[in-house]
Amino acid sequence: MATLEIRDLHVSVETKEGPKPILRGVDLTVGSGETHAIMGPNGSGKSTLAYSLAGHPKYEVTAGTVTLDGADVLAMSVDERAKAGLFLAMQYPVEVPGVSVTNFLRTAKTAIDGQAPALRTWTKDVKAAMELLRMDPEFATRNVNEGFSGGEKKRHEILQLELLKPKFAILDETDSGLDVDALRIVSEGVNRVRSGGEVGVLLITHYTRILRYITPDFVHVFVDGKVAEQGGPELAERLESEGYDRFLPTGTVTA
Ligand code: ADP
Ligand code: MG
Ligand code: MG
Repeated sequence: MATLEIRDLHVSVETKEGPKPILRGVDLTVGSGETHAIMGPNGSGKSTLAYSLAGHPKYEVTAGTVTLDGADVLAMSVDERAKAGLFLAMQYPVEVPGVSVTNFLRTAKTAIDGQAPALRTWTKDVKAAMELLRMDPEFATRNVNEGFSGGEKKRHEILQLELLKPKFAILDETDSGLDVDALRIVSEGVNRVRSGGEVGVLLITHYTRILRYITPDFVHVFVDGKVAEQGGPELAERLESEGYDRFLPTGTVTA
């Protein structure tokens, strides 16, 4: 049983006009095997939370703590965070020219485990995971993210998740840009990872649509850089019918 604990997290983003405070005291605890949906209007700071956990240099933590089983995540480098068991899809470069998907995955697995996976079982594992995500075997030989479609990027993200077996996965807008079939396949992948009961998932999304496939254990509504309300899956259903209006000042229009 592992625990990811975020306490009173304040984060500013670097802008041309100077640092701009975005997160204003986020509290969140995620345990192994739990799925937490982070929902909220555009601009409420959801991606900022994901980037901050990933250790993105543009996001400065000005107060608060993040710990994984008591270890100080904020003091860790990006690589150390991955080794500690945090999976953040966006921590990897957008495009890695000349590195095939297979080699990229093997390098990531080696870095995280501290030793290279046995080649024979690894090749089999990659193939099996790709089949489950209905990915063309040819995809394994392509260069990482070079010319990937939106859907391919998302499947590659879930492929990494299935193979790297992290303790905690932070998935930001995994549902964006997916058609219904791709959304179902990607959701099934997330559900397979969850079903082991060992991975904690932070599922960040603006829309409720992915939550029809992945039922969260907890829902947190993010407004203006902090959690404004929390509940169970019924809160997502309520947001589906009511939207975010009641959380916003009167007259605010959101996309
Ligand atoms: P969400 O993911 O909930 O839509 P974000 O975390 O992307 O929200 O953004 C939260 C707020 O921070 C927005 O007002 C956004 O404009 C601002 N912001 C985020 N990143 C930057 C940046 N790099 N430069 C300037 N403003 C930013
Ligand atoms: Mg946004
Ligand atoms: Mg976002």
